[in-house]
Amino acid sequence: YLLIAGVKSIAGCFLSPMATGMSLVLCMLTLKQDRPRAKYVLWPRIDQKSSFKSIITAGLEPIVIEMQIIGDELKTDMQRLEAQMAALGESVACVLTTTSCFAPRACDSVDSIAALCSQYNIPHLVNNAYGLQSTRCMHLIQEASRKGRVDAFVQSTDKNFLVPVGGAIIGSFDKNLLDRISKMYPGRASASSVMDVMITLLSLGMAGYKQLIAQRKEMYSYLKEELGKLATRHGERLLDTKGNPISMAMTLQCLSHQHDNKQVTMLGSMLFLRNVSGTRVITTTDSKHIVSHKFEGWGAHNSNYRVPYLTAAAALGMKRTDADAFIQRLDKALTKVRRRSAPVTPTASLAGSSINGDAGGTGGPGESSTASTSRASSKDSLRK
Ligand SMILES: *Cc1c(COP(=O)(O)O)cnc(C)c1O
Repeated sequence: YLLIAGVKSIAGCFLSPMATGMSLVLCMLTLKQDRPRAKYVLWPRIDQKSSFKSIITAGLEPIVIEMQIIGDELKTDMQRLEAQMAALGESVACVLTTTSCFAPRACDSVDSIAALCSQYNIPHLVNNAYGLQSTRCMHLIQEASRKGRVDAFVQSTDKNFLVPVGGAIIGSFDKNLLDRISKMYPGRASASSVMDVMITLLSLGMAGYKQLIAQRKEMYSYLKEELGKLATRHGERLLDTKGNPISMAMTLQCLSHQHDNKQVTMLGSMLFLRNVSGTRVITTTDSKHIVSHKFEGWGAHNSNYRVPYLTAAAALGMKRTDADAFIQRLDKALTKVRRRSAPVTPTASLAGSSINGDAGGTGGPGESSTASTSRASSKDSLRK
């Protein structure tokens, strides 16, 4: 399956009984064995906790390489990365890059980084969590191995094979390294995640899986088109993120009022209550501590992203009806939040109460409490 997805010169792969994060740990620990002085991992920032935590769990120290904002998109800052490679040399265990991620972050420049890794003799590990379903991500890895060094690449089984969380596929262009990674696992392992994948693959067959991949690509274009139309209707726009083949984002400018992002957060909770999962609403002003590090603008992959936004992804298994339902719910929720955030004149507040009344009727349990909290919070912000 890795072969059909586009990586042709691969030496092999194996099913690891742990999810992506722990599988990355296994790879890093194996790479570290050959580099006794290695302490650091160079990590182009990606706001996904398991990615960052995998470095800490492997007993290594992350060196965060902030992404560069180019247009709307976040790209690998090659100069910063190379400067660190040159400065830290053999004290670097590996460079950990990411292909699939939430927009507006693009795939890392995995091929150019691979070339640098050869030049500086530093291992290169690729987090390809949901990239197996994208021929573009897979070709990029193939291209990277041709231009330079890719030691191993890891993909999640739940994101690529429609199975429950708990497994990953570790691939490598080096048979010897791959054997060593698999032998690094201490003891016997549970076979349940392997069984899940085998059963799914046997029932799908090669043709079935290829068809799912083709369908996903179509759904990506469809979702992008529909989300673009919705954005225009609401005076927003799609972020221009050509470097991301799976995830897309639209601005939420109208919900942001002079650094006050309550409305943005409210939209997020409304979508959650309407069973819209898999979408992330990003204020760009949150910060988060993970272990000893503080990340400004957590969620946005960057400390200085300018506009709040919402992400959506066309993932494997998505159907046209799913995309339509998403667009419809988002449209409704956005309309509702925007009406609430309209300046309050006596008539507008009457309109506001009728909206809240309506929410109680259609939303089901949990909904009415959010409606009242949000009503309270919008009053609060007016008082200020
Ligand atoms: C999903 C994801 C992970 C974790 O993958 P699981 O195997 O589902 O735990 C790690 N990194 C990135 C970029 C991801 O998208």
